[in-house]
Amino acid sequence: MKNIDLKNLTIEKAHESLRGGEFSVRELVDRYLAVISEKNSDINAYLEIYNDINEQVLSAQKMFSDGTATILTGIPIALKDNMLFAGHIASASSKMLENYTATYDSTVVSILKKQGVVFLGRTNMDEFAMGSSTENSAFGRTKNPLAPDYVPGGSSGGSAAAVAMEGALIALGSDTGGSIRQPAAFCGIVGMKPTYGTVSRSGLMAMASSLDQIGPFAKTVRDAEIIFSAITSHDPLEATSVPMEARQLQATSYKLQTNRVGVPRDWLSGEGIDEEVKKNFEESLNILKKLGYELVDIELPVSRYSLAAYYILQPAEVSSNLARFDGIRYGHSNQEGDLLDVYEKSRGEGFGKEVRRRILLGTYILSHGYYDAFYGTAGIVRTQIEEEFKKVFETVGVIATPTSPFPPFKAGEKTEDPLAMYMSDLFTVPANIVGIPGIAIPSGKTNNGLPHSIQFMAPHFCEDRLFAIGKAFESAVQL
Ligand code: GLN
Repeated sequence: MKNIDLKNLTIEKAHESLRGGEFSVRELVDRYLAVISEKNSDINAYLEIYNDINEQVLSAQKMFSDGTATILTGIPIALKDNMLFAGHIASASSKMLENYTATYDSTVVSILKKQGVVFLGRTNMDEFAMGSSTENSAFGRTKNPLAPDYVPGGSSGGSAAAVAMEGALIALGSDTGGSIRQPAAFCGIVGMKPTYGTVSRSGLMAMASSLDQIGPFAKTVRDAEIIFSAITSHDPLEATSVPMEARQLQATSYKLQTNRVGVPRDWLSGEGIDEEVKKNFEESLNILKKLGYELVDIELPVSRYSLAAYYILQPAEVSSNLARFDGIRYGHSNQEGDLLDVYEKSRGEGFGKEVRRRILLGTYILSHGYYDAFYGTAGIVRTQIEEEFKKVFETVGVIATPTSPFPPFKAGEKTEDPLAMYMSDLFTVPANIVGIPGIAIPSGKTNNGLPHSIQFMAPHFCEDRLFAIGKAFESAVQL
């Protein structure tokens, strides 16, 4: 086996080595497969390693000899289990879809396929992307590769763990309320949620459609940027995909204040925010100051209700989206008894506890007589939060917060207390509510050696601002 330094490998370094013949696609992929066979039975980052890796490797290598290789050709990637890859199982880590084989490619997969990326396998997640610890999977929890007693975050915990254990160079996840940024934070890597409408959701299993967004996991901000640039597209298959010209227009409508970093002090004064997290955040702000950024205290008072609004909007959309899993058309089916029995048994057996909880909540929220009080009000709050952010972005270029209100927690610590678990997304949910991009970047270590993370948010379609400040921060921070 070729001795490749996976720890310090980036997309650009791998690309140079593949192009220069220092190692082949086969050799690179074999190194990752060796790590996976050594570590995955314990960590459980992957639910399956794909059986067509050989074909993928051959066609990627051919692109190098043809001269058609791109920067992503031959790069090994891990795919969250809720993105369709034709001919392969995609289960959303649910018993409901345990044996479901995708019949078409999601748009992200089809884009990356053309570039000759090597899909290594599908990664574990909280069932249907609901959770913050990857303990809600029907196929066992994923361990945090940095400390096996701890959770890797969620819901894209498998993707984050795959990259953190050097079981893939990069990975894709989906983020509805924090599911890329929070596991990136817990696993000590970079995770990014792009602007809503920039990366196609076609072929991503719908969870809460007005909030879901696909994005990258990587070890460096530059790698996240490369992946984002590759997967962002205008997709006619997806109704909320924003045309390129419209993105440009909206991005340039925000005044340039890129050196001013907004800090929402009112968010940090609430309950449930860990003291170590606050201290690390202040240290991060000092780094930004030294880098020449101007720190500005901002106020986002309505945004403090983001989490409350999320837990109305999200279950409502979930109850509607997951109605398709009825035991009749596809997915787990128990055909005993009459039609009502089929529905009840199929859904009761197919869905886990958290998914059932959200469906029940959502059904209640949308029911006659409650719809206006709950869903209607949450919609109004959402609009106010959007307005509030828009105004703040007239005075600052980016906003900085901690990524998670607390450091990684132990497995089992929050499983019995859904509200404590929901707090995980306190700082990440607002970006989904508003639709703006956010990036999580490692910012140091806790007293017991676990990762801290800082989050930057930017106006709609201003991902470039996140990459710029992200790279500056990353090069200055001591980990
Ligand atoms: N943790 C949040 C939830 O459980 C967010 C999940 C996500 O972003 N997919 O809903």
